Amino acid sequence: MISRVYNFNPGPATLPLPVLEKAREELLNYQGTGMSIMEISHRSRQFEEIIASAEACFLELAGLDKNYRVLFLQGGASLQFMMIPYTFLSAGKTADYIVTGAFAEKALQEASLIGNTHTAASTKNTGFSTIPAQEELSLSPNPAYLHLTTNNTIYGTQWKYTPACGNIPLIADMSSDILSREMDLTKFSLFYAGAQKNLGPAGVTVVVIHKSMLEKVPDNIPKIFSYKTHADTNSLYNTPPCFSVYILKLVLEWLKDQGGPQAMGLLNGKKASLIYNAIDQSKNFYRGHAQKKDRSSMNITFRLPTEDLENIFLQEAAAEGLTGLKGHRSVGGVRASIYNAMPLEGCEILANFMENFCSNNISQQE
Ligand SMILES: *Cc1c(COP(=O)(O)O)cnc(C)c1O
Repeated sequence: MISRVYNFNPGPATLPLPVLEKAREELLNYQGTGMSIMEISHRSRQFEEIIASAEACFLELAGLDKNYRVLFLQGGASLQFMMIPYTFLSAGKTADYIVTGAFAEKALQEASLIGNTHTAASTKNTGFSTIPAQEELSLSPNPAYLHLTTNNTIYGTQWKYTPACGNIPLIADMSSDILSREMDLTKFSLFYAGAQKNLGPAGVTVVVIHKSMLEKVPDNIPKIFSYKTHADTNSLYNTPPCFSVYILKLVLEWLKDQGGPQAMGLLNGKKASLIYNAIDQSKNFYRGHAQKKDRSSMNITFRLPTEDLENIFLQEAAAEGLTGLKGHRSVGGVRASIYNAMPLEGCEILANFMENFCSNNISQQE
C-alpha cells in the first residue's frame, strides 16, 4: 500500500480515497466496454448515463428541482467571470459586485470590460479579512444581477448568510465551498464552481442555472458561450472533459453516501474548529487572518511570529505527511484547505502538530 499524505492543497485538492479506488478499479475496462472512460465516445450510452446521473445527483444533493439545469463546462470558474456579464449584462444595464477577495475582484474586472459595473460593497480596506453585513451593501437602482463569492479561498473568509436582494438575480462563485454545508440554494439564479476544490479534478466547471436565466440568454451569441446551447445539448455540444466529469460523478455519489451537504456541513464545522482552536489557544503565536465571525470552514489562513518560523513550520509539517500548507503569496503564512474530502483525522493531526509546534517554539516569540 502506497502511503498517502494529508493533502491541504487549495486546488487541485485532495479527493476522497474511495473515489480514487473506484476509478482505479474501473480504469482499464469501464463496465465491460474493454476501454477506459477516457477512450470511449462522449456520445456513447455509457457516457450519456454518467452525465445524466451527475446532473440528477447534483440537483438532489443541492435540494433543487427541475427548474434548474446543471451544466458541465470547461474554462474554469475564470471563464464564468466573463460568460456571466457577456450573457446578462446588456447595454444600458449595470451589474453589481460584492468584492471580498482576489477572485471576486477578478470577476468584477472581467465584467467591467463588458459593461457597466457597480461595487455594492468591498472589504479590501480590511485586507479582505471580513464579509460585509447586509446593511453595508449598497445596490445600484436596478442591476442586471448581484454577484458574490461565497468562500474566499485565498483570504479564508466565508459568507454565513445569503444577502437579501429582492427580485434581483443572485449569482455566486461557489468554487471553494460548493456542497460543503446546508444552504438554501433556491435563492440563487445561477452559481458556479471549478470542480478542482470541492467536486473533483480540474477541467470541468459546474454551472447551475435557473430556467428564468436560460430564457434571458440572447440568441445572437457564439454557440460555445451560450448557456442555452449547453443546456439544450445536456452539456454535449462539443466534447466534454469526460474523465473529469466521470470523477465528479463518483465524488457526488460519495458525498451522498456521507449524508450530503447537511452531514458534511456538521463535519466541516468540526474539522475547522479543531484548527481554529489551535490558533486561538496559542497565545497569539498563530494569528488568524480572517475576523472570527467571518472565518471560513474551508480555507484556514494564519501567520506565525516570523517568516523563518513559517518556513520551519511548513518543513516540519511536510515531514509528518501534512502537505500543501503554504499560504497564498498575497496573505503569506499558512493556509490549510480542508474541503469535503479532507477527513476529520487529517485536521486532528494538523491541530496536534500546531499545538506541539507552538509549545516548542513560543519562547522565540519574545
Ligand atoms: C480557484 C477559484 C477560482 C478560479 O478557478 P479556475 O477554475 O482556476 O478558473 C475562482 N473563484 C474561486 C472562489 C476560486 O477558489
